[in-house]
Amino acid sequence: MRRDSESIKRTLEAHTAPAASELVHVEEDGAVRCVCCGNRCLIAPGESGICRVRANVNGELRVPWNYVAGLHVDPIEKKPFFHALPGSEALSYGMLGCNLHCAFCQNWISSQTLRDPEAGASIHPTTADRLVRIAVAERTPIMVSTYNEPLITSDWSAAIFRKAKAHGILCGYVSNGHASPEVLAFLRPVMDLFKIDLKTFDPANYRSLGCELRSVLDTIERVYAMGFWTEIVTLVVPGFSDSEEQLRGIAKFIAGVSPDIPWHVTAFRPQYRSKDTAATMPADLDRAYETGKEAGLHFVYAGNLPGSVGDRESTFCPGCGARLIHRVGFRVRENRITDGACPDCGRSIPGVWEQRTTALHRAARS
Ligand code: SF4
Repeated sequence: MRRDSESIKRTLEAHTAPAASELVHVEEDGAVRCVCCGNRCLIAPGESGICRVRANVNGELRVPWNYVAGLHVDPIEKKPFFHALPGSEALSYGMLGCNLHCAFCQNWISSQTLRDPEAGASIHPTTADRLVRIAVAERTPIMVSTYNEPLITSDWSAAIFRKAKAHGILCGYVSNGHASPEVLAFLRPVMDLFKIDLKTFDPANYRSLGCELRSVLDTIERVYAMGFWTEIVTLVVPGFSDSEEQLRGIAKFIAGVSPDIPWHVTAFRPQYRSKDTAATMPADLDRAYETGKEAGLHFVYAGNLPGSVGDRESTFCPGCGARLIHRVGFRVRENRITDGACPDCGRSIPGVWEQRTTALHRAARS
């Protein structure tokens, strides 16, 4: 249900807490600098940052806390993570707001809240403890912040993930990657998985969304070097990100960080402010897939068009070519990975294949 901006603003103001000290710098004249994402907003008293959900109230940065705008149990393949406990379910939650403004956003009703008068979803008050209790009760081995941009609500996600990890739950973000070094360092002790959109390789196109290409490339390099399990997604939008030059640039960049990083090339459907843009065709995904393989990437996946992309949703061993995980859409039909390796040639396959701790297992068995 959509609500007017003033009423959403008042509701959100009632669900805030002080920012984590790692994510804010106190400046002169009562201003604060938020360092929770790559925008690094300088915010005067009474103002909010570019995301509109972090605000300076009397010299204190107040940030989103204790609510969700969406909460679902989804297949982990839907995020998409293909190398993190395949076939598992993830408790997925989202809040409101974003630090970018993409014309093709699939979740604009929640992400463009307080920026687009047409946007704005209802929220549901909750707590970190309650979310973790739901994950344990639902036996989801993964929790993911998704639907809107998770970076801008990292203070509360860190509080949730800290509690979730005590139960052995893997925690992750589905993010646009416009991060700051500070927020990555803040998240690393409590977070395992990072899915990052690399939306285009054209700096001007990225600027039209609200950030610099370099910011996202830096995040990918940092996140991988810091040891987060990293997967990259490119929504292949005709006329925006589908040129040979761009796809080759993206694939080469990822391969330069590591050829073991999975690259998902996914199909766009006309929506939000891109209703006049053509939908991605299977042949476009085929071309992107081949570009990734030619660049030397070991794991390329064609997504969002199940049944039209052959077996390009499945995982194949880069050593012997054997099919290791057979997927159709978000469903895993077979997983042959054994002890993190190909059972045919023994090659190690990068990913998170086993849940590491035991408390959730105990809860599941009881
Ligand atoms: S999260 Fe990003 S956009 Fe929002 S206030 Fe902080 S620096 Fe600005």
